Amino acid sequence: MPQHSDDHPTWNRARAVVPRGVSSGHRVGWKQVFVRTSGAYVWDADGNRYVDYLNAWGPIVLGHSDDRVNRAVYEAASTCDLTGVGPQPGEPELAEKICEVMPSADKVAFCTSGTDATMHAVHVARAVTGRRKVLKFHGSYHGWNDHVAVGSSRKDLTAQSVLNTPNGGGLHPEVVADVVVVEWNDRAGLEAAFDEHGADIAIAFAEPYIHSFGCVPAQPGFLELLRELCTRYGSVLTFDEVKTGFRAAIGGYQSLCGVTPDLTAFGKAVANGYTLAGLAGRDSLMGHLGAYDREHATIDGTYNASPYSVAAANATLAVMEAEQIHQRLWDLGARLREGIAKAIVDTGARAVVDGLGSEWCVYFRDELPTNFREAMESDADAYGRYHASLLSQGILEPAFPTGDRRLNAATSDEDIDRTIEAVHVALAASRR
Ligand code: PLP
Repeated sequence: MPQHSDDHPTWNRARAVVPRGVSSGHRVGWKQVFVRTSGAYVWDADGNRYVDYLNAWGPIVLGHSDDRVNRAVYEAASTCDLTGVGPQPGEPELAEKICEVMPSADKVAFCTSGTDATMHAVHVARAVTGRRKVLKFHGSYHGWNDHVAVGSSRKDLTAQSVLNTPNGGGLHPEVVADVVVVEWNDRAGLEAAFDEHGADIAIAFAEPYIHSFGCVPAQPGFLELLRELCTRYGSVLTFDEVKTGFRAAIGGYQSLCGVTPDLTAFGKAVANGYTLAGLAGRDSLMGHLGAYDREHATIDGTYNASPYSVAAANATLAVMEAEQIHQRLWDLGARLREGIAKAIVDTGARAVVDGLGSEWCVYFRDELPTNFREAMESDADAYGRYHASLLSQGILEPAFPTGDRRLNAATSDEDIDRTIEAVHVALAASRR
């Protein structure tokens, strides 16, 4: 059983000089400090090893500290580390590959985070349509910029809270007022939103398969309805594939579901942990990106398409194809979900499990959720006991309920078997 000091000195040191000790909100909630990674595993500063099912919230897809990716990065950085002049080494090759595999991609532009990508999408859509409003779904996280940081706060969610509650302070109220938020899978609500605001909606965002509150698919016909309404009202349909892109399939979830958006934001798994993200889309829209006039949206960024992150992405996608990584991710994920479902029955825990490919989520409630409010009814105390038990057995999962979890391709069959045993114990512990 992992033993660790309850409050590692590094936490105290960090809290003294970094707000709350971390530079990204979701990094709190741990007692451990993690200091080493390899393949499927991470080690804390006390020397305990964990199977990692957090995987940095998505980027690590091949495995931690992958040699093939790291070597490509080293080679790029030591050959030409220049950014800021013309196309970057490897950039056209990477864009060509993405255009080949992703149905919506005629052109691709690179940036450094998913938040950048969704912000560029808003700017392009507004520049093209001349409209202001953004439509998104309740609970879906699309980054922290004002245009989308609305309607996905867990803290402020109550039965009475309005759907477009800002996620935090400091957002511009007029920008927030322009965000129309609809409950996921609510067909009538979606139609009503377009009836009322359709002529003003520049862009509609959807995670085509929701990971912001676990694993919640669109009900049959819902994505098709969204596509149809966007086409009818002339709104730019944007899939946020920051989590599903290059993980659910190399071509993203859109290559599986058969609905093609106008724009796609991606990031995370594309470069196995190196900082790369991007916006892909139809030529007629992407052509409005990058010039300095009113019909165009700007894209600027010192580190956009940096040679090392582009090299990491080219290496990651090459390994994915050469080693049929998605087959492995789906096989392991299916085995794990089957084992968890059986453990739920065996232990009589009040829980359900669902997922996609390498991702899954256990909800502590009777039925699978279909939207954010239902997902958030998952019993947080039961999850707390489940999570603590898994952690004590060397399994690392998100620190809060309804966080999606995922495995990487370096996970072994033995890791899966051991995880299923640990889940039995943790589910039993969740009932106390
Ligand atoms: N979109 C989704 C679905 C995400 O999960 C995230 C981050 O978790 C983002 C966008 C923002 O990406 P980034 O953290 O790279 O800014």
